[in-house]
Amino acid sequence: MSRSGTTDRGRPVRIVVAGSGLAGSCVVVQLAARVRRPISVLVVDDGSRPVDDAAWAFWARGPHTLDPAVSARFDRLRVCAGGRDRVLDLDGYRYRRMRGADLRGLVESATAGDDRFAFRTGHVERIEDRPDGVAVHVDGEAVPADWVLDSVLGPPDPPPLDARLAFHGLYVRTADPVFDPSTPTLLDFRTPQVDGASFVYVLPDGPRRALVEHTTFLAPEATAPDPDRSAAAVAAYLHDVLGCREHVVERVERATLPLRSRPTRRRRGRVLTVGERGGLVKAATGYACDRIQRDAAAIAASVARHGHPLDVPGPDRRHRLLDGALLGSLRDDPGLWERTVDALLDGTRTATALAFLDEDTTPIEEVSLFAGLPAGRLVRALARRQGR
Ligand SMILES: Cc1cc2nc3c(=O)[nH]c(=O)nc-3n(C[C@H](O)[C@H](O)[C@H](O)COP(=O)(O)OP(=O)(O)OC[C@H]3O[C@@H](n4cnc5c(N)ncnc54)[C@H](O)[C@@H]3O)c2cc1C
Repeated sequence: MSRSGTTDRGRPVRIVVAGSGLAGSCVVVQLAARVRRPISVLVVDDGSRPVDDAAWAFWARGPHTLDPAVSARFDRLRVCAGGRDRVLDLDGYRYRRMRGADLRGLVESATAGDDRFAFRTGHVERIEDRPDGVAVHVDGEAVPADWVLDSVLGPPDPPPLDARLAFHGLYVRTADPVFDPSTPTLLDFRTPQVDGASFVYVLPDGPRRALVEHTTFLAPEATAPDPDRSAAAVAAYLHDVLGCREHVVERVERATLPLRSRPTRRRRGRVLTVGERGGLVKAATGYACDRIQRDAAAIAASVARHGHPLDVPGPDRRHRLLDGALLGSLRDDPGLWERTVDALLDGTRTATALAFLDEDTTPIEEVSLFAGLPAGRLVRALARRQGR
């Protein structure tokens, strides 16, 4: 590979995309749209987390690159915290839901008839960085590449965990029309706070159908909540809070997401880690969709410009410090998350609060936001973390 990014022998730049979940799919869509130089992209996925079973939600302002795969948009969100139940007008933001099958459709249409892209079902066993390129070991075969975008193995030395987010989601159908189809519930703390800071999330798909998810911030070493207890918490929420007499569970989704506020070392030689393993999940919220999409756009712009994927923005250290302080405090004070949400999403500055959670705010905007937060606790946690 020459310094300009063209290959020495004039062949296309060979890129292996390891994993075609959210990050791999976003990268492929962006490479297809933005790169005009010769590239040859091989996408490898073993199907262990079928993209068709997944769905993501995120908020964003204005039109969004993922909009062709978005199946529902909402202008309002409900938040129940601190004993107050409020519906927030999103003030220019829209909350969006994207289904995995629609993301797959977007990848298919972005690459249709484009012979620069090939797709292979296979298990990535290891990635070996060599002086002359990279070898991606797929089902016993070494596949050569100039660059690897890896969302499956990640670095050998990930930063320590600050917390984990445990999800127990039930896709339910109810006898009564208990859901407001125009208003997802982002956070509702009217659920037992047993294993850590817990809330319920509701993503409606009609008045009688929704994903109802019990979500808990766990300390790094804590065991995940007992599934029966989480299912019972969802059932109690449906019955006691929403007044639903009967419900049928159509599908269950369980997962635990690692939350890390310290930056991940994304680059190892010719390998760039993307997605959750690249540290792109926002530690304080568990959201990653918009960040992963923005990162994919930066990667594709870098490939278009330089012939390599490395010219991408680094981590935002100020916001990460705040995330670490918040998560560190939850260990001794699980109620801090509810108090923070209650103050941040009180309905008076929703757009700034959502921008803050997206790391899009300036320090001056943050000063005005922090005026209402449980600042003493957070500042003490920040000082402890800095002193470490
Ligand atoms: C249950 C859950 C719900 C979430 N909901 C949201 C949400 O609503 N909004 C949001 O912004 N974020 C959400 N997140 C956080 C984040 O957006 C997701 O974790 C996101 O899927 C991360 O994208 P990724 O590409 O890194 O991983 P994935 O989407 O999991 O993709 C990894 C891919 O790699 C494949 N794979 C794994 N190992 C191998 C291997 N060795 N070889 C080959 N292929 C392999 C898998 O089959 C999969 O397709 C959620 C996370 C979880 C766990």
